[in-house]
Amino acid sequence: MLKASNIYKSYGNLPILKGVDFTVEKGEIVSIVGASGAGKSTLLHIIGTLDKADQGEVFIDDTAIHRLSSKELSAFRNLHIGFVFQFHHLLPEFTALENVCIPAYIGGTKTDIAEKRAMELLDLLGVASRANHKPSQLSGGEQQRISVARALINNPKIILADEPSGNLDSENAAALHKLFFDLRDSMGHTFVIVTHNEDLANISDRTIHMKDGNIF
Ligand code: ADP
Ligand code: ADP
Repeated sequence: MLKASNIYKSYGNLPILKGVDFTVEKGEIVSIVGASGAGKSTLLHIIGTLDKADQGEVFIDDTAIHRLSSKELSAFRNLHIGFVFQFHHLLPEFTALENVCIPAYIGGTKTDIAEKRAMELLDLLGVASRANHKPSQLSGGEQQRISVARALINNPKIILADEPSGNLDSENAAALHKLFFDLRDSMGHTFVIVTHNEDLANISDRTIHMKDGNIF
């Protein structure tokens, strides 16, 4: 469902990605590992349409991402790609429920429909009782579950996560990883996850190692 071919990316004179080829099948959970500075986040941002490659092609299903204008990219990203980051980036002045609904509102979904789906997701992720809390009133593990619900609200084709458990203790990290697998098993979600967490890398369907601007 995702195919990146011959991806090159430099910052100034510094080559970061040197002809990376990378495919992901629907329903796969793929980890990307490698030393700090290896280019993992850069690759994730390129396949997530947050950043453009200097050269190369990225297809998500039938859409040629590399051919889209920045306006088309924003719309595509909001509808079809879910992001989970190390720091959850929840908006502090909004409740958990409102945070989850935001990508749906941006996509033009009506309030009642967005809220119904958001509540279903919060329920599925075990944080329905936290719907009306502000992020500051929630634990780190709860905040990350809310950010996963936000990533899922538009039913994206793929979920991209950058160190999603990097800020969690080992118990909450294990629970978050289990959640990813439960979502995949029940709904067929596809995940690409940059991680330093060895447990997660070990249980992933596939682990990609990045080194010297390439993958192994
Ligand atoms: P990783 O995720 O593997 O730690 P990154 O993809 O974040 O690696 O970064 C790879 C290299 O690219 C690093 O040397 C980093 O400093 C550099 N880099 C990343 N983003 C930028 C940027 N926007 N401008 C300049 N250099 C960058
Ligand atoms: P890091 O990966 O450096 O630890 P975070 O996990 O906090 O940092 O993620 C911050 C990243 O969010 C930045 O690298 C930034 O590129 C990325 N970002 C950019 N645009 C968006 C967006 N539209 N939605 C979510 N995150 C975005």
